[in-house]
Amino acid sequence: MTTLTKTSKKTRKQGMLDNVMRQFDNAADIIGLNPNIRKILEVTNNEFVVHFPVRMDNGEVEIFTGYRVQHNNALGPYKGGLRYHPTVDIDAAKALAMWMTWKTSLAGLPYGGAKGGIQLDPSNYSLAELERITRRFTYALGDNIGPELDIPAPDVNTNPQTMAWILDTYMSTKSPSERSTNMHVVTGKPIGAGGSEGRDRATGYGVFLNIKFWAEHKKVDLKDKKFIVQGFGNVGYWAAHFLEKEGAVMTAVQDAYGSIANEDGMSVEELMEYATANKGSVLGFADAVPIDKNDFFALNCDICIPSALGNQITAKNAPKIKAYLIAEGANGPTDVEAEEILLKKGIDILPDILCNSGGVIGSYFEWLQNRNGEIWQLDEVMAKLEKKMGESFKRVLETSQRRKADMRTAAFIIAIERLEEAYVQRGIFP
Ligand code: NAD
Repeated sequence: MTTLTKTSKKTRKQGMLDNVMRQFDNAADIIGLNPNIRKILEVTNNEFVVHFPVRMDNGEVEIFTGYRVQHNNALGPYKGGLRYHPTVDIDAAKALAMWMTWKTSLAGLPYGGAKGGIQLDPSNYSLAELERITRRFTYALGDNIGPELDIPAPDVNTNPQTMAWILDTYMSTKSPSERSTNMHVVTGKPIGAGGSEGRDRATGYGVFLNIKFWAEHKKVDLKDKKFIVQGFGNVGYWAAHFLEKEGAVMTAVQDAYGSIANEDGMSVEELMEYATANKGSVLGFADAVPIDKNDFFALNCDICIPSALGNQITAKNAPKIKAYLIAEGANGPTDVEAEEILLKKGIDILPDILCNSGGVIGSYFEWLQNRNGEIWQLDEVMAKLEKKMGESFKRVLETSQRRKADMRTAAFIIAIERLEEAYVQRGIFP
């Protein structure tokens, strides 16, 4: 097995950016990436930092800082989510934008990579304030986003409602004759506002499919297998929903508020109902007990699904992990040191750029429908998603076997080789 042992030549700030660069360096070294193309892919194309004022409910004005980083668009318009979280900064946006470039390339989509967001804790603001913040952020980004230029989508603490506000603000700045040609400026919209059937569950369903494909390959029966989920939001919930339908049992959940466990299993739907009524928090759910958050990853289970933030599985907790499969719903949940430890222990990792790519594939379907004036049925969307995810999984598995590399390295190799080919064929302007 090839493991991620190489450290970057440059000193980089610890965190997600360091992580994604080391993953990139590792794969680029293995394939002997053209050094000129390497120089291009190592840096981001554009980085926007906007400071903008918003009037709060109490009449005072607050200044917010928003980010949008466009890493690469060699394969098509920039694509990636917007995150509202206190940890959002330029380095986080750069790292997440890079992962998007590899993800869209791996999935064979006509997109590049971008990411952004606002550094804030949304729980401190009313819905009306969040609407004004979102609209003013969209206005500040102006024509640096666009349906054929850069297409945002939901991420942590943003949702279909956020996308509807962005769409409405963006369209409102266009002349009347152009307005309805801009529906695809964002994806992940509510269905009534131009969204697609199935986009809500696309990421979680993709995580589930990857686990299913892996289980078929390993001849593992998912029935009665125990899984734990970090992050019970869009991705974590839908992944758990489909796994439970397959007969697997959810035994622990951790969210931003705390951790709960029940060795005998708890109902995914009942927990979702409880959390929805409890401001998004799983704490206090009657059918589970609270546990120390530091014990979460060490719990006895078969499958671990990190679906919250980056750098959650580190050298500190990796040695204690008992799961034999980690399915990365989140972006960048496992750092490079942790990955080395896990691979040595024989734990399989379904890497983020493969495992959570159902989201951007679902977004691509929404974008295509808006662009072509089409409306697809749910079963059609799910079938297309399953086909595309199946192809990606097969390609990554085959590359990992042929290259004797772990799944992440294989996924990066496929993604980078596609970009290299595009640059070699097109050349560099002028
Ligand atoms: P979300 O806002 O719907 O849910 C996030 C969940 O994580 C919540 O349950 C929250 O309480 C929990 N959380 C936040 N901070 C935490 C912490 N410190 N410890 C434990 N739990 C914490 O977000 P989401 O859309 O489900 O995104 C989750 C992850 O999946 C992110 O890494 C995101 O980039 C990635 N992702 C999302 C999509 C998508 O379509 N939404 C697609 C691909 C990847």
